[in-house]
Amino acid sequence: MQTKKMLIEQDPQQTRVAVLEDGRVVEVYYEPRDGGGLAGSVFKGRVHRVLPGMQAAFLDVGLERDAFLHVEDVRPRSVTEGSEAPDGDLAEDLPTIEDLLKPGQEIIVQVVKGPLANKGARVTAHVTLPGRHLVYIPEGDHRGVSRRIDDEVERERLRSLLDEIETAGGFIARTAGQGCDLSELQADATSLAEAWRRIQRKADSAGAGDLLHRDLGVALAVVRDTLDTSFSALWVEGEHLYQRVVSFVRDFDAELAGRVRQSTEEVPLFERFGVEEVIEAALRPRVWLRSGGYLVIQPTEALVSIDVNTGRNVGRRSLAETILQTNLEAVDETARQIRLRNLSGILVLDLIDMENLEHRAEVYAALETALARDRVRTQVLSISEFGLVEMTRKRSRPSLHRWLTQECRTCRGQGRIHSASYVISRLRAAVLEYRAHPSRLELRLRLHPRVAQALREEHPRVLEEMREAIRPDLTLVEDPLLHEERFEIEAV
Ligand SMILES: [Zn+2]
Repeated sequence: MQTKKMLIEQDPQQTRVAVLEDGRVVEVYYEPRDGGGLAGSVFKGRVHRVLPGMQAAFLDVGLERDAFLHVEDVRPRSVTEGSEAPDGDLAEDLPTIEDLLKPGQEIIVQVVKGPLANKGARVTAHVTLPGRHLVYIPEGDHRGVSRRIDDEVERERLRSLLDEIETAGGFIARTAGQGCDLSELQADATSLAEAWRRIQRKADSAGAGDLLHRDLGVALAVVRDTLDTSFSALWVEGEHLYQRVVSFVRDFDAELAGRVRQSTEEVPLFERFGVEEVIEAALRPRVWLRSGGYLVIQPTEALVSIDVNTGRNVGRRSLAETILQTNLEAVDETARQIRLRNLSGILVLDLIDMENLEHRAEVYAALETALARDRVRTQVLSISEFGLVEMTRKRSRPSLHRWLTQECRTCRGQGRIHSASYVISRLRAAVLEYRAHPSRLELRLRLHPRVAQALREEHPRVLEEMREAIRPDLTLVEDPLLHEERFEIEAV
């Protein structure tokens, strides 16, 4: 069994959590201190506009942009569940958005997806509150077991315990609920129901746009959702945060609370465990494999492509063996990078072609095993004849790439800028226009040093041509602050 460690660090800018498995960083979580993580927060909203065409409404929830609420997220659960009629004709008599909401109406909603660059938040009227062992659905009545628990006997045991919980409402047993007895589950249920009552009481006196409840910050949420006995230590930096984490863990597991340690070293935690280096590397497209092959990971608008290359991996073994070896390493590293970078949506892995069917089966099996270690589920959709593996992974938090990078101002996100030759051909045309000028003139051509160098070394004849055309003089002024694509011509 692997040993895991969790590291929690907080600075004036952000809270960060890292998870290590056998000494390797596998997950990193970020949250800005000014509260970027809105998902899970509960607000009192006011209906701003109802859009019958989209069967949705826009709500003022006190954020910069209106939040989006779809009819399915506001229909009472009893109505939708009851309506799955035997005749299968369900859309007909379901209430529409106009039936359910009127402009100006106030309603309690929970953020499903925080606002993005140019999109408002997505909200639901179906509030769910996660606890350590259970998820509480105050206005539901379904009781079930998380799909992530696959032991049938344990599922059955939990199902019967859930039925005995006295608190009203729906409950789902979470993975950390495995092995719990009724009193532990009931304690979680009681405190979740209390949290829900607090939300309702607050809502009574709150105005539209008021925050009623905020999910735990990223540090405690990761602790709540993942900490178990496979962790040998949980390191926390800072006295205050350490105290909070210890008392939070003690509430659900006294034994685990003993594994929480405060880091008192001068060197920050992330530095000490090599996390900073791993994060920096995870922002670059290329990932080297031990055998000499490498992955190239490129997030695009539509999907993330992960390309496998043999690189300098040319061993003494047969080509088929080398390819198998590289692909096996590649799927393992891919699964790790997916978690580390928190890639989501459609992922396309381009393996090196394998003719041998047994090799293919071996690689795909290895991929599935590697993906199973991830808490977020990745579904392998299909494998094409050319070795393209299509996968989807649930979108949760933004990827590391999204958090920590911004568009390059020089190329405006294109990743390419005009080549020096192209800039030179444009500046040549611009300079030669002055030939028609009636009087003698001196031109000063301001350009980037790299372009100037290319002009002198690679295109000396262009320079000569311009010098002949412009009399008495053409001066080059190198300006490293100038954008490489730009140049300025000044007549003196
Ligand atoms: Zn750029």
